[in-house]
Amino acid sequence: MEKKYDVIVIGAGHAGCEACLASARMGLKTLIITLNVDSIARMPCNPAIGGIAKGQMVREIDAMGGEMANITDKAGLQFKVLNSSRGPAVWSPRAQCDKELYSVYMSKSLQDQQNLDILQSEASEIIVKNAKVCGVKILTGETIEAAAVVVTTGTFLKGTIHLGKTFFNGGRFNEKPASFLSDSLIKDCGLTLGRFKTTTTPRVNTKTIDYSKMTEQPGDENPRPFSHFTEAQTWRKNLKQLSCWLTYTNPQTHKIVGDNLELSSIPIGKVKSKSPRYCPAIEEKIERYPEKTSHHIFVEPEGYNTNEVYLNGLYTGLPFDLQQQMINSIAGLENAKVIRYGYAIEYDYSSPLQIKRTLEAKTVENLFLGGQINGTTGYEEAASQGFVAGVNAGLKVLGKDVLVLGRDESYIGILIDDITTRGMDEPYRMFTSRAEYRLSIRNDNADLRLTDIGRQIGLISDDSYAKFEKYRKTVKDIYAGIEENLLITDDELTPWSLEKAKEEVYIHKKYEGYIQIQEKMANKMKKNEFKRIPDDFDYTKVDSFSAETKQRLMEVRPQTIGQASRVHAIKPSDIAILTIYIEKIKKEKKQKRDEKQD
Ligand SMILES: Cc1cc2nc3c(=O)[nH]c(=O)nc-3n(C[C@H](O)[C@H](O)[C@H](O)COP(=O)(O)OP(=O)(O)OC[C@H]3O[C@@H](n4cnc5c(N)ncnc54)[C@H](O)[C@@H]3O)c2cc1C
Repeated sequence: MEKKYDVIVIGAGHAGCEACLASARMGLKTLIITLNVDSIARMPCNPAIGGIAKGQMVREIDAMGGEMANITDKAGLQFKVLNSSRGPAVWSPRAQCDKELYSVYMSKSLQDQQNLDILQSEASEIIVKNAKVCGVKILTGETIEAAAVVVTTGTFLKGTIHLGKTFFNGGRFNEKPASFLSDSLIKDCGLTLGRFKTTTTPRVNTKTIDYSKMTEQPGDENPRPFSHFTEAQTWRKNLKQLSCWLTYTNPQTHKIVGDNLELSSIPIGKVKSKSPRYCPAIEEKIERYPEKTSHHIFVEPEGYNTNEVYLNGLYTGLPFDLQQQMINSIAGLENAKVIRYGYAIEYDYSSPLQIKRTLEAKTVENLFLGGQINGTTGYEEAASQGFVAGVNAGLKVLGKDVLVLGRDESYIGILIDDITTRGMDEPYRMFTSRAEYRLSIRNDNADLRLTDIGRQIGLISDDSYAKFEKYRKTVKDIYAGIEENLLITDDELTPWSLEKAKEEVYIHKKYEGYIQIQEKMANKMKKNEFKRIPDDFDYTKVDSFSAETKQRLMEVRPQTIGQASRVHAIKPSDIAILTIYIEKIKKEKKQKRDEKQD
C-alpha cells in the first residue's frame, strides 16, 4: 500500500467519484478510500439522474469534464426531457437508470483512471498539523499522507437505520456505518456536526403488479444523450427504453397510514432530526395535508436484469406489515409483493457555514467537504459539490487559483453560494426557483457557459475542445446570419451537430430581450459581488451593526460583499455600512503603502 498522495478522497458515492476523477485527471496522484468497493456510486434511493434543475447541474458537471452524464448515457433505461411542453428555459433532462449498471460503469471508470488508486477501508481520522491537513488514518492504524483531503461520507457518519420502532446502526441498509470519523472531524478539525434524516421507499416485484390499472409514462420517442460529449448519431442504436407508470394513493391508503402514525419512525419516535421537505415520507404528507385524498405514485423500473420496481412517492418509516397493507390498497398494487421495505436513516452532517465557497473548511487548510455531508440531498447535488471539491483540492495542491462558480453562470454556483451563505435547517435540494438568472443558465447552453472553465482546469482534452470550438463558431455564425458556414457537416461537428447549433440560436433569440435585462442586472450585482472582505475582518468592532448582524456575519464570515448581502437577516443598510468600512480599510492600506514608498 502506497503511503503518500497529493489528494485523498474519503467515500466513493456520487460526490467522491467526481472528486477523485477530477483530481486524478488534473494529474494529481489521488487515492479514494471507501468502505465497500462493491457499492461505488450506489443509488440507494430512486435510480434516476437529472430532472428539474438537477438535470441542468448534471449538464454543467459534464461541460466542465465531469463523469455523471457520461455514465448515465451508458446506464440509462429511459430518457425524457421534463417540461418539454413549456419554454426551453425550463427543459430538464432526466434519465431512469439501471442501478447496477450505473455502479458498474462508474466503478470501471475509476479503475481505468490514470493517477487514481482505490482502497477498500474505513477512514477513521483526519490528520491535521498546524491547522493544515496532512493525511488520513484508516481503521487498521496505518496513516497515509496527503497534501489535501476531500470528505464525501454521505449518510454514513454514525448512521442509524429506523424501521418502525426498530433501529440499528447502518450507513445504508445492509452496509456498516462509519463510526469513528465524526469524532475526528469534531476534535481534530474543529467542526460542529448536526443530525439529518432521509427515507426511502419499498421496492416491489414487477411480476405482481397489474399495470392495466395505471397510466404508462414512456420515454421520449427520440431520446437524446445526457452528455455533450456522447455522439448522438451513434449512441445506443439498440437502446430499449422501459416505461414508468403512474398510480395514486386513495382514502383507504391514507387511513392505513393515518391510523398508525405512532408506529412509524418518521413523525414521532426516535427520528427527531429534519428530513428533506421536498421528498417527504407518506406519513408526513398525510399529516401535513389532511385535506388531500390522493397523491401521485410513480412506479419506476430499477434495471434491465431485475424485477424490482421503485414506488416513487411512498417514502416511509412504517413497520413492514403496514407497508405491505398500504401498498396493497393502491390501484394496480393490490397483489404486489414487497422485495425490500422502505426505511429511514439518520446521520451526521456538517453545517456548510463552516466551509468556504471553494468547499474548503474554514478551520483546516486543504480539507474539503462535498455532498450529503454538507447537508444537501440528492445524487446531482452531491456530484456537483464533489466535482468542485475535487477540482479545488487539486488546484490548491498545484498552487493555482481556485474555482468559485458564480450564481449567474451556473446552478452549481447557486447551490454552493446558498449553502455556504445561508446554511440550512433541513436537507437542501436544488430547484429552478432558486436561480435568479434561469433564462441564461439553461441545460442546452451548459457547454457554452462552462466548457472554457473545464478546459482551463485541464479536464477537457485537446480533441474535445477543438470540436467544441468549431461548434461555438457555428453557433456564432448562424446567429450572425453568415450562410456559407452552414455548409459545415455534422461529421465535422460531432459530437455536436448542425441541428443542435440551430436550436441553440433559436432558443437564445427567443429569450434575447430578457437575457439582456438579466445580464445588466448580473453586471450591476457583480460590482459588489467580487468586492473582497479581508479574512480577518472583525464584524464585532462595527458599532452600527446590531448584535444579530454581528453574530450572523461572524458565523458565515462571507468572503465578498455580494456574499454578505445574501446572509440570512442581513439588511441593505448593513451592506452599505460594511461597504464603507471595506473602502476605508482599502484607503488606509493604500495610504500606508504610499507613505512607505515616499
Ligand atoms: C435511505 C436513503 C434514502 C434517500 N432518499 C433520498 C431522497 O429521497 N431523495 C434524494 O434526492 N436523495 C436521497 N438519498 C440521498 C442520496 O443517496 C444522496 O444524496 C447521495 O447518494 C449522496 O451522495 P454522497 O456522495 O454525498 O454520499 P453517498 O452516496 O452516501 O456515499 C458515501 C460514500 O462514502 C463512503 N464512506 C462513508 N464514510 C466513510 C469512511 N469513514 N471511510 C471510507 N468510506 C466512507 C461510503 O461507503 C459511500 O461509498 C437517500 C439516501 C438513503 C441512504
